Amino acid sequence: MSIEVRNISKAFGSFRALDNVSLTVPDGKLVALLGPSGSGKTTLLRIIAGLEQADSVPGKAVLFAGQDVSDRGVGERRVGFVFQHYALFRTMTVFENVAFGLRSLPRRARPPKREIAAKVNELLALVQLTGLENRRPWQLSGGQRQRVALARALAIKPSVLLLDEPFGALDANVRQDLRNWLRRLHNEIKVTSLFVTHDQEEALELADVVVIMRQGRVEQIGTPDEVFHKPASEFVLRFLGKVNLFHGRNGTGADPAAPRSNGLRLLARPHEVEISLTATAESSVQARVARILSAGPSVKILLLEADGTEHHADISHKHREELGLTEGQTAYVTPVSFHTFLDHGAAI
Ligand code: ADP
Ligand code: MG
Repeated sequence: MSIEVRNISKAFGSFRALDNVSLTVPDGKLVALLGPSGSGKTTLLRIIAGLEQADSVPGKAVLFAGQDVSDRGVGERRVGFVFQHYALFRTMTVFENVAFGLRSLPRRARPPKREIAAKVNELLALVQLTGLENRRPWQLSGGQRQRVALARALAIKPSVLLLDEPFGALDANVRQDLRNWLRRLHNEIKVTSLFVTHDQEEALELADVVVIMRQGRVEQIGTPDEVFHKPASEFVLRFLGKVNLFHGRNGTGADPAAPRSNGLRLLARPHEVEISLTATAESSVQARVARILSAGPSVKILLLEADGTEHHADISHKHREELGLTEGQTAYVTPVSFHTFLDHGAAI
């Protein structure tokens, strides 16, 4: 069931948490809502779920499968919700937690006991928790708890699944595992899902489509490839990772009085710059090697220009050895490919 929101705004007092947001989650897809803390992600999710009312402006709508659900309450929308902080019932077993939604249905809609048990066992198998049905939430790891929360959300056969930073409180390794697992699970069950995160790597690896939010507005919507390779603004580029700024017309830094900018901003990611011991192009920038981090698949180098401007370079171990690069020495940073933005941040 597709989700569509149109012209959604939300003010808390004089503060605009959402400013005319429109987006679509196509049927069966997994869309990530990505943005810094405070950009309005949770507010949007709560409006979709029916937990919060959008401001009443002409043309505003929340549609499930093309039907306006604005007047439907939370219960009627049949939304599966998974939050960052495990909202499991502490006194209930894993089995009882997952069965809760089914047992709470009105008598005429409630399946017989045997069917509920079969359904719960099926869900526990799906989230790979068979055998743990009698544990209590506090006897589970964080990752296991979030899988119970997901099974519980799926038990009511939700029309859509909304996940609000579900892995936000977990360790990096567990997050990575659950991310891969959720992607495989989604391929299997294909429930239309909107996944909120402030972690760009998580969004890019997990989602079919990424919606990037900034201060209550949609900054860009695209596939992970599109937002990464064709960022619509400097904000998007910067949000997706470290960048190096080179001004439009930039000499080697030999003449400090030379104009540093023609109004264009050239930005290159750490893997898009080259390091050399002599200037190799007009755009080469002189900088001091401040830090070399070589414990990883590539070598990450932090360089500082005389005015304190930071540059980040990502080079191979082999290249670093060839250069004989050490901390404290002077080197040149040259963009090999770059993204160009106008002074106010729009891509050109
Ligand atoms: P995100 O989930 O992207 O971090 P939120 O949607 O939670 O952002 O919040 C967006 C902004 O709206 C924040 O600045 C937050 O402080 C504000 N906000 C959210 N809910 C309320 C509320 N009930 N009352 C007042 N301000 C709120
Ligand atoms: Mg939030």
